[in-house]
Amino acid sequence: MIKMDPHRIELSREIIIGNEAYKKLPEILEKLKLKGPALIVCDPTTFEVAGREVGQILEKDGFAVDKVLCSDVTEKELERVRSRADNFKFVLGVGGGRIIDTAKYVGTEESVPYISVPTAPSHDGIASSRATINKEDRRYSYEADAPTAIVADLGIIGDAPMELISAGCGDLLSNITSVEDWKLGQRDNGEYYSDYAAALSVLAAEIIISSSDMIKNREERGIRNLVKALISAGIAMSIAGSSRPCSGADHQFSHVLDYIAEEPGNHGHQCAMGALLSAELRDMDYSGIRETMEKLDIPTRINQTSFSKDEAFRAWEEAKNIRDRYTVLDVKDFDTESLFKRAGII
Ligand SMILES: [Zn+2]
Repeated sequence: MIKMDPHRIELSREIIIGNEAYKKLPEILEKLKLKGPALIVCDPTTFEVAGREVGQILEKDGFAVDKVLCSDVTEKELERVRSRADNFKFVLGVGGGRIIDTAKYVGTEESVPYISVPTAPSHDGIASSRATINKEDRRYSYEADAPTAIVADLGIIGDAPMELISAGCGDLLSNITSVEDWKLGQRDNGEYYSDYAAALSVLAAEIIISSSDMIKNREERGIRNLVKALISAGIAMSIAGSSRPCSGADHQFSHVLDYIAEEPGNHGHQCAMGALLSAELRDMDYSGIRETMEKLDIPTRINQTSFSKDEAFRAWEEAKNIRDRYTVLDVKDFDTESLFKRAGII
């Protein structure tokens, strides 16, 4: 007899990908029966890149639109944006990871739908229900609603700085080691594990490996594969009901770096370096991860990063304490310096 507890999977209702995808917004809003007023969350750069145009498209369609510019996902900043969100019927996050996370938080807290409008493919948060929030110098994973709609304009995303494009790739590459950590959780602690979510998450990483040349050259097919892989990773997390398929020791390493390093790197690059360490520690073949990182100029060596060797050592050593998540760090002993050497990082 099957004894699985009821398991909820929340997905986005509308996903639009393509050139000038914004122009479809009125149609999508009509389908979703969303009436204004709308609040656009963006930063000064993403307002110029896309926010203004999104606002104009909505206004032309008869929506009352207001915008709020924000800079970071600190508690104070989130509360400021949230206080503005009163009276709005839906929120659009137009920007990179931080902006999307802010819109996600505000939409969830205010119980209004939010629409994810990424301007860069920098991490898998564009489709996921998880937001990373800074509170008192620590980063927290916040369980939010999934975006009601995702509108990914490939023209704008494909013009994003290469560093943000490769960051999204790095975030996805680490899915390979995250899934291995998840398997350990199931094996040793009987954690819920979904074959389907795990396979989808690994597939997203594999498509990055096989599309890396096209991504490097900003070819339409490459950028499309990247955006779809990021969305698939979000869906994998929705199916899993947690960030397990896309976050393991690789991500813990990045989270610790974010708060101990004087000058941390971006999320995806750090997670990919964490994946090298995690893969080396478990003796798996990770040549595909490394070659893709090298091809896309994702740092594989400390001297290519903004943080120091000491900070990286400390981040790896403290990674297992950052949150209650069972990973290879709980299973295998290591000598940090020798592991970094074997992984080719120093
Ligand atoms: Zn990530």
